[in-house]
Amino acid sequence: MVGVETAAEVTMPGGVAVDDGRRRDAALRPVVGADEAFLLDAEALAPVERSTALLARCLVRLGPWEPPGDEQVRWLAVGDREALLLHLRRLTLGDRLELVLSCPACGEALGLDLRVGELLLPPYEDWAPEHSVPVDGMRVRFRLPTGSDLEAAARAAAVDPGDGVRVVLERCVLAAEGALELPRAAADAVAARMAELDPQAEVVLDMPCAICGHRFTVTVDGTRRRERVPGEHTYVHQLRAFEAATRGEPTNLTPPTDSITTMSLIDDIYTAAGLPPRG
Ligand SMILES: [Zn+2]
Repeated sequence: MVGVETAAEVTMPGGVAVDDGRRRDAALRPVVGADEAFLLDAEALAPVERSTALLARCLVRLGPWEPPGDEQVRWLAVGDREALLLHLRRLTLGDRLELVLSCPACGEALGLDLRVGELLLPPYEDWAPEHSVPVDGMRVRFRLPTGSDLEAAARAAAVDPGDGVRVVLERCVLAAEGALELPRAAADAVAARMAELDPQAEVVLDMPCAICGHRFTVTVDGTRRRERVPGEHTYVHQLRAFEAATRGEPTNLTPPTDSITTMSLIDDIYTAAGLPPRG
């Protein structure tokens, strides 16, 4: 059995809404051998569902819930989930994170030595259960995407790969005053604002190539990392690129020659638990 004394106090950048504000505190225990059978049984789940289940197992406390159920974990914003996964990674495997990337310009393998702590962002000042953004004379109200939204998107995308983004926006846009239907420009504005409000959802590092001098950015989160080109941002845009790739269209995400960079940080946890990495 896992003793309470092995749990570590951690904080989330956003937090959960409670009656008188928000709670950013949580307690996590490391991934242990007892999780192995569960992880093996979870092979059929989408990655976002597996993250939910893994967090629900390892969270000893989440704000007021001790312990939280799957439902409470699902309602965490994406950045909070990413922060908790990074903490879980640190607690289980240590703070050091060695990545091997390949330069998109020259293909050179580049080592990147990070500390998990460097990837964790300070508390969000602009935190609220609901936000809004002005677009072309209308005001669009929305909330940040949660694990629940991404799980719904994953289920929709399994049926129709083009449906993930629509599902996330439909669920997260609460009202668009002055419009019957959300135009593409408004959807993009909402997606961009979501990324600003929840930066932990996608930590982006600026990476210079030591060989050819090319500068590129690397996205590091609790479950994966990838190079990307300037101008692309937010998990909604990632979903779009993912959908494009699924349809066989060219995408700038994850160069096909670069299998190493698609390696998952969560795979490290699976490996630590004695399991082969997810395929
Ligand atoms: Zn290079």
